[in-house]
Amino acid sequence: MSDIYFTPGPTALYFTAEEHIKNAIRNGVVSTSHRGQQFKDIYKACADNLKELMNIPDNYHVLITSSANEAWERIIQNCVRSDSYHISNGPFAARFEKVASQLQKRTHDLKLADGGIPSLEQIDVPEKAEIVTICLNESGTGAAFPLALINQIREKYPEKLIAIDGVSAVPVTPVDFTKIDTLYFSVQKAFGLPAGLGIWIANERCLSKAVELANEGLMIGSYHQLPEMVEKAMEYQTTETPNILGIYTLAKVAEDMLTKGVTAIRREIDYKAAILNIAVEEHPQLSHFIENPAYRSKTVSVIKTSFENSKLINHLKEKHIQIGTGYGKYKPEHIRIANFPTHSKEQMEMLVDMISAFKV
Ligand SMILES: *Cc1c(COP(=O)(O)O)cnc(C)c1O
Repeated sequence: MSDIYFTPGPTALYFTAEEHIKNAIRNGVVSTSHRGQQFKDIYKACADNLKELMNIPDNYHVLITSSANEAWERIIQNCVRSDSYHISNGPFAARFEKVASQLQKRTHDLKLADGGIPSLEQIDVPEKAEIVTICLNESGTGAAFPLALINQIREKYPEKLIAIDGVSAVPVTPVDFTKIDTLYFSVQKAFGLPAGLGIWIANERCLSKAVELANEGLMIGSYHQLPEMVEKAMEYQTTETPNILGIYTLAKVAEDMLTKGVTAIRREIDYKAAILNIAVEEHPQLSHFIENPAYRSKTVSVIKTSFENSKLINHLKEKHIQIGTGYGKYKPEHIRIANFPTHSKEQMEMLVDMISAFKV
C-alpha cells in the first residue's frame, strides 16, 4: 500500500492524475513536438479550463513558467521599474521581497510577525512603489490573507499593480481577478500534480508596464519576457520546450475539477477543515498557530505540538500517512496538514481519528 500524503506539497496526486499520465504516454503526448498542433490543443485546453475553473476574465493571459519561484523573478523584472512594496507575513511572502532586492529594486517591506494579517491602516504604500505583493495562503504559517482586504487595497491604491501568490490557495480560494493584476501558482500544491510547472496569470496592465520598461531600455529578462510570452501564448506556444506532460495533466485535472464542480470541491474543503479544526481544539497537546479562525487557512493547517512533533509524524508514518513538519525555524515544533481537493472526506476523517487518539 502506498502512503497517503497530507504534506503541503508535493502532496498526494489528484486522484485522476495517474490515469491521465498513463494516457499521455500512450497518446504520444510526452514525445510530440511543442511546435505541433497536438501541443497547441493541450495548451489551449489548459488555459480554457483554468479560466473557467478559476473564473479568470478573458483579458488575462495564462502563461507557462517552471514554478512559482520563477514567477517572482518575472513579475519583478517585467512590472517594476524601481520600487516595490511587499506585505511580508511569513517565509513565502518574504521571498518575494528578497527576489526584488536581488534584482536590485528598492523594496518597501511591511514586516509583520509570522502569521500576522495587517489592518488596512497599516498598509501604507509609498508613492514610488509600483506593485503590492501579497501571499494569499502562507504555506509556512497557515495564514490566509482575507479577500476583502485585497479588495480594500485595490480601492485605496487603484493605480498600483497587485500581485498575488496563489500557490497553495487556488483553485480552492475564490479570487476575484478584477481586483488584482497578476497571480501565479505551482501545480504540486492544491492541484495535486507532480512538481515542475508553474502558471503565471497576468493582465493587460502588467503587459503594458513590461512594454513601457522595455521601451525605456530596461532589462525585462531573456527568454521569458512578458510581451514575448504573451505573443506566443496567443498562438498557444512557448519560447522554450515546456513541461508538456505537466501542462497536459493540469488541463485534464482542471477538467475533472470542473466536472465535479468548484462548489462541491469548496464544500468538501470546508467540511474537512472543520473536522480537523475541532480535533485540534479538543486535543490537550495541540493548538492552532493561527489563533483567529478568520485568518486561518483551510488548505494548509499549521498546528503547534506541545511534544516533539516527530512522535506524531512517525506514529502516522507507521500507519502509512505522511504529514508535514513545521516550516523553516518551526520545523521541530509544528506539524502541517494539507487539505486539498484530492484528499477525500474519508481520508481526512481517518486522519482526524488517528490524531484525536494520539497522546504522548
Ligand atoms: C510552495 C510555495 C511556493 C514555491 O513554489 P515552488 O514550486 O517551489 O516555486 C511559493 N509560495 C507559496 C505560498 C508556496 O506554498
